[in-house]
Amino acid sequence: MSHVKLYIPGPVEVSPATFAAMSQPMIGHRGKGFSDLYADIQPKLQSLFGTTQLVFLSTSSAFGVMEGAIRNLVAKKVLNCCNGAFSDKWHDVSLRCGKQAEALKVEWGQPITADLIDARLASGDFDALTLIHNETSTGVLSPLEEIGALKKKYPDVMFIVDSVSGFTTVPVNFDELGIDVLLTGSQKAFALPPGLALFTASPAAYARAETIKDRGYYFDFLEFRANGEKSMTPSTPCISLIYGLQHQVNAIFAEGVENRFARHARLNGMVHDWVRRHGFEFFAPEGYRSKSLTCVTNNKGIDVAAMIGLLKKNHSLIIDGGYGKLKGKTFRISNMGDETDETIGTVIAALDDSLAKL
Ligand SMILES: *Cc1c(COP(=O)(O)O)cnc(C)c1O
Repeated sequence: MSHVKLYIPGPVEVSPATFAAMSQPMIGHRGKGFSDLYADIQPKLQSLFGTTQLVFLSTSSAFGVMEGAIRNLVAKKVLNCCNGAFSDKWHDVSLRCGKQAEALKVEWGQPITADLIDARLASGDFDALTLIHNETSTGVLSPLEEIGALKKKYPDVMFIVDSVSGFTTVPVNFDELGIDVLLTGSQKAFALPPGLALFTASPAAYARAETIKDRGYYFDFLEFRANGEKSMTPSTPCISLIYGLQHQVNAIFAEGVENRFARHARLNGMVHDWVRRHGFEFFAPEGYRSKSLTCVTNNKGIDVAAMIGLLKKNHSLIIDGGYGKLKGKTFRISNMGDETDETIGTVIAALDDSLAKL
């Protein structure tokens, strides 16, 4: 099917094979067909999450679970680590849920470090922390292992981590990290359409949720656990997307998880080479750059909107022209999901051509 191919960092391109897998006949969500489907995916998801805990399927975008985690786990005050659009928004979500919340702000483009978090948690004011592993708006990957190691020092603080655009591009092992919630979404590296979020939670998270009265229903972690134990979901799930997930998870294991990480690193490196070759700069500092997308600083002052127009018109593909206040000042190229050396080669050739025509 001819269409404009997506190299934006979400939603990403969805393959015809994935769409075909999603087109299976509908089944009842309280019947054996659905519980068999979920039970088939569960151990594979547990392996991907690096956990023995249940992995849940939430029929919502990632923000549903981001809000749910706040409602389930914050009793006293949450520290929202903010270094980009998604993490800033999470602070806003905390406030809108009526919670006490403080923003730990660093400049967009910079990582959140363990030292920064340690210094604020030391106040004893907080019982929860939110962190975005891979800030998609800025292409910054924060050091999750170092941050997770703080959990030992602050066992009563719930560590809530969004790896929406990092998950399955770099290793994230929930049990090893010792964190309390890890959540992700379907339309980033899973290369599925939007509408499904996935998450897992620690025993300490359930214990906290049990003490909280206004968890709501739709994102109640205890409802997810009670239903998940029976390979069910609290409400009618997006069954078609879950068929797509089954297909994609099988594809991930057919490729091999390590090979998948290596592929993302290699394709990301191809984009980085293009950036250097043209004298552009990276928005994220060395050592903290995402493996799933590249956020390029427009230090050459090109007309980003015009370049994207050329990419679309002449090559039937698009990249992103910068998120929010970074529009025109940066642009982003995604390499996550099902991309290959060939498809990243295509976008690079298209970028070369379009840049020459500006
Ligand atoms: C895309 C994204 C989200 C939000 O996902 P929705 O599906 O729009 O709710 C949250 N966090 C990060 C890091 C993202 O990249």
